[in-house]
Amino acid sequence: MVVLHLRHLLGWRVLGVLCGLALFGLAQASSLTPMRAKQVAPNTWYVQGESALGSSANRNFISNAGFVVTPAGVVVVDALGSPALAQELLGLIRQRTTLPVTHVVLTHYHADHIYGLQAFEGAQIWAHASGRDYLSSELAQSRLASSRIDMFPWIDETTRLVPATHWIGSRTELVVGGVRLVLKPLGPAHTPEDLVVHVPSEGVLFSGDLVFRGRIPFVGHANTRHWLEALQSMLAFDAKVVVPGHGPASTQVKQDMTQTLAYLRYLRQTMGQAAKDMVPFEEAYNRADWRAFEHLPLFKAANRMNAFNTYLEMERE
Ligand SMILES: [Zn+2]
Repeated sequence: MVVLHLRHLLGWRVLGVLCGLALFGLAQASSLTPMRAKQVAPNTWYVQGESALGSSANRNFISNAGFVVTPAGVVVVDALGSPALAQELLGLIRQRTTLPVTHVVLTHYHADHIYGLQAFEGAQIWAHASGRDYLSSELAQSRLASSRIDMFPWIDETTRLVPATHWIGSRTELVVGGVRLVLKPLGPAHTPEDLVVHVPSEGVLFSGDLVFRGRIPFVGHANTRHWLEALQSMLAFDAKVVVPGHGPASTQVKQDMTQTLAYLRYLRQTMGQAAKDMVPFEEAYNRADWRAFEHLPLFKAANRMNAFNTYLEMERE
């Protein structure tokens, strides 16, 4: 009620800024994850979001983004979960180079990786063509509508969905300032439009949400069979460093992928067996032994839904 009265007096924009300042104050006072650029190769950095669900309190800073500085400009991989976060990332980039961001490559069109896109005006945006289906879906619109409430003021009425300028359908090489980037579609896995970005000269692979570290993966409407295959084909890049969509970068790629692999395998095994035996979901869920995963952050928030989605997926398989 108070908010609504204030809203009439001040308008959403002003109220947004006030709330933003209040939250910023909170952020200063609490131990909110600050954004820091971590270097993983001579010309490559990334920032790491929190292992949490997106909220006003964490600014929706729950996913990673990276950037590669080339002699002709900067290539950003993923746009973070709000325009303000993307501006903060731009600030970190400017501390390292005066060159502009010329390209943004998206690993997939999930909210926490794309709501910052509008901050990169003028840059080319590259993504997999299946992202168009998501953008034109009612789901994308309803998710944005609820994010404008749940993640206010970081997501507000000025936040918009931005389409790519370049939609690709197959493996594509992007050469910027002599630096070669390989954009390789590996979906449908976590999403239909999954794309990994390999920078051979840097030995770096941006895996997007094919790899989750330090938390329970978000399965959603994934294709877990292809996801397991995609993880295997990712190993073929033989990258020195993998920057995941969530969690810290990995230099021991094979070992660090095991958590995602083991989790997806276990979901498929338990829920697949239950679907085959026509055991109702609730019973199958309660019967499964989650001890190997229940210590991971977001287990409570995500595991049941992940299991349920996998159960439905296995019924169709
Ligand atoms: Zn994500």
